[in-house]
Amino acid sequence: MNYKIIADYHIHCNLVDRNFLLHAKGTIKENAIVAMKNGLKEIAITDHGTAHFLLGMKKESYSEMRRIIDEINQEYVSGLRDFRVLLGVEANIINSKGEIDIDDEIIQHLDLISVGYHPGASKLDAKFNYTQAAIKAMEKYDIAILHHPRYGVNPNIIEIGKVARKTNTAIELNEKHSKKDKESLRVDEVRLLKKLGVKFSLGSDSHIPGKVGKFNRTLALAIRAGLTNDDILNARGQAHNNLKLLNRGV
Ligand SMILES: [Zn+2]
Ligand SMILES: [Zn+2]
Repeated sequence: MNYKIIADYHIHCNLVDRNFLLHAKGTIKENAIVAMKNGLKEIAITDHGTAHFLLGMKKESYSEMRRIIDEINQEYVSGLRDFRVLLGVEANIINSKGEIDIDDEIIQHLDLISVGYHPGASKLDAKFNYTQAAIKAMEKYDIAILHHPRYGVNPNIIEIGKVARKTNTAIELNEKHSKKDKESLRVDEVRLLKKLGVKFSLGSDSHIPGKVGKFNRTLALAIRAGLTNDDILNARGQAHNNLKLLNRGV
C-alpha cells in the first residue's frame, strides 16, 4: 500500500510557557517550513491544554499563536503555495465526566480540538474510567481527533470506536507513543475500528521540526491492519474531508 500522507495534525512547538524544560524545540514557522519541504499541505499545532502541570499552555498564549499562524498562512497563501497551518490543541481529559481543560475564550482562537489523556493533567478520582471519560468528551465537545488512546490507559476500543464513528472523531495512530507495544493500538484493534467505520489520523507528536510528517511505525501498523488512503484523515483520499474543523466564522 502506498499512502499519500499530506498532513500532520499532532505537532508541538516551543511556545509552552514553562519552557525551561525545553519541552519542544521549534517555532511554529520552523515546523511549517519543514512540513512544506516534506511535501505536506497542512499541519496542526497542538500544544497541551492548560491543566498539564508542567507543559500546559497559558490561556493568554492562544491569541498570540493565532496571530503567528494567521501571518504564516497569509505569507504562504499569497505566495501561491497550497499550504496552511491550523491552530489546534492537545486538550486534556481531566475527569470522569469527560471535561477538558480549555474554555470558550480559548476555543474562539482554535481551528480544531483534539484530546488526550495525560496522567500529569487529570485530577483522578477513584472511579476514573478512561473509556467512559473519552466517550463523554467526544459527546460533549467537537473533538476532531482522540490522541494516543492507549497511552497510560487500557481502553475498551469497541465502545470508544462506536462513539468516535457517531461523532466523526478520528482515532490517532501516534508515532511517538508506538515505540512500546503497550502504548500502541494493536493490529486487531485497528482492524476492528476500521470495521466500525472509524477514521484514523497518523500523528507524529513531534517535539522537534525534524520529526514533522515522519511516520514509520504507524505506517507499518496501517499496512498490517489493511488501511487505505480513504481510512486516513491525513492521507489524500475521502477521509481527508472528514477533518472536524470548528467554525470560527472567518
Ligand atoms: Zn499526548
Ligand atoms: Zn502530543
